[in-house]
Amino acid sequence: MKSEIIKYIESQKSLHLYKNLQNAFIDVLSHLTQEQFEKIRNYLIIMAFHQGTVGQVMHFDARKSKFAVMQLYIPNNMPKDVMGWVVAHELGHVMQERNWKESDGINLEDDATKFAEKIGYPKTKKISDWLVAEKA
Ligand SMILES: [Zn+2]
Repeated sequence: MKSEIIKYIESQKSLHLYKNLQNAFIDVLSHLTQEQFEKIRNYLIIMAFHQGTVGQVMHFDARKSKFAVMQLYIPNNMPKDVMGWVVAHELGHVMQERNWKESDGINLEDDATKFAEKIGYPKTKKISDWLVAEKA
């Protein structure tokens, strides 16, 4: 699966300049089952915003069915464990296959955090504290 993961990450053009983020994705995706990974690969487009830009366009191959876009802003000072948790948590939202609605309250957030924990990325106090300090 490792080479399939690397191929998928290389296909995500907005990640090209961010080696740390590519490595975080490769780590997190390695914790998924083959079935979960295939869902991500077929469903998800990842958009990392380039620091200092106000807008950007990335070209991707056409998709035939429903898909999700993961938008990420990763500050330069984000620690490795926080980055891994953010990627794992957002993949939890991808697994939900729909957008938040008011009646969900924090349920979808808790669900995404549980998914991250289940694949090996628990939200530690250090991660919580960093996110609060950065108001992320
Ligand atoms: Zn969330």
